[in-house]
Amino acid sequence: MKPPSFGYDAPRTLGEALGVLAEAGSDGKVLAGGQSLIPLLNMRLVAPGRLVDINRVAGLDTVEVTAEGVRVGALARHSRVLRSAESARAQPLLAEALRHVAHPVVRNRGTVVGSLAHADPAAELPAVLAVLGGSVEVRSEQGQRTIPAEAFFTGPLEPDLRPGELAVSAFFPALPPRGGAAFAETARRHGDYALVGVAAVVVLDDDLRVSSARAGYLSVAATPLVLDLTEAAGRRSAASCDWAAVAAHAQSLVDPETDIHAGADYRRHLAGVLTERALRTAAANALERGDP
Ligand SMILES: Cc1cc2nc3c(=O)[nH]c(=O)nc-3n(C[C@H](O)[C@H](O)[C@H](O)COP(=O)(O)OP(=O)(O)OC[C@H]3O[C@@H](n4cnc5c(N)ncnc54)[C@H](O)[C@@H]3O)c2cc1C
Repeated sequence: MKPPSFGYDAPRTLGEALGVLAEAGSDGKVLAGGQSLIPLLNMRLVAPGRLVDINRVAGLDTVEVTAEGVRVGALARHSRVLRSAESARAQPLLAEALRHVAHPVVRNRGTVVGSLAHADPAAELPAVLAVLGGSVEVRSEQGQRTIPAEAFFTGPLEPDLRPGELAVSAFFPALPPRGGAAFAETARRHGDYALVGVAAVVVLDDDLRVSSARAGYLSVAATPLVLDLTEAAGRRSAASCDWAAVAAHAQSLVDPETDIHAGADYRRHLAGVLTERALRTAAANALERGDP
């Protein structure tokens, strides 16, 4: 398979990259790790006039961890983030989900921000960003925008990115002190895109009762779906909460479609099973973190 012909630019600074993207307008496409874009080009599903390869742009290969969360720069590869113990401590969900993204060889090249910009509803990281209430920072010659996750994913493979814009980083908020997270998915083979995946976050109050329970889903809708399950959890103690009932409630709210990989009923069933598993583990992790 050969891609259609395209122009190619390899800027070395952010300013140069934004200049080239501004000039290219809707004809331009950013090339990061290429793990999604190159297959799309080779299958001729996209035909941009100009590829703007950002791999030589200095200063984008960053993983900054603060008390507020983890900021991942546009050229930080999946494997780099996965190796960061600091990042895993601040936001364990990111590392947990990344272990399910493809295989090491793909993770060595693919980027976290590229995965968000690709906006595949079957990808792990958009669901993680969505359930955490994270955001994407975007730059262009016109200025800067911070786009919350709930506005960034507008449709399948449709991020809220305008011509001339480059996503420079993504921000994943840290878990609160009495917070726990867990990720669960089912795929036909490890490393395949998931038939369904769930990213769960449970936060406890000082009496170890559930003060917040949220679940983010991949592969059940055209964009990441986030359910607030706090009311269903009923502010019970984390240890005695009826997570099976909460998961059954979540299952009744998802409305997946049938495709060549799985039927809608099977996906709905998986959503229930995986929600219970992820919420239970998240609650146990929250109890462990809250235990001085
Ligand atoms: C065999 C295989 C299995 C895979 N399995 C999984 C999986 O299980 N789960 C999963 O989530 N992913 C999977 N992937 C995809 C992989 O995670 C990619 O790395 C990821 O989707 C895109 O990151 P990238 O850096 O390679 O982006 P690219 O392929 O370079 O770009 C993808 C898209 O995002 C845009 N883009 C990239 N960076 C920016 C930016 N900074 N600003 C604006 N636009 C940008 C590009 O223009 C393009 O439209 C798989 C890939 C392969 C080849």
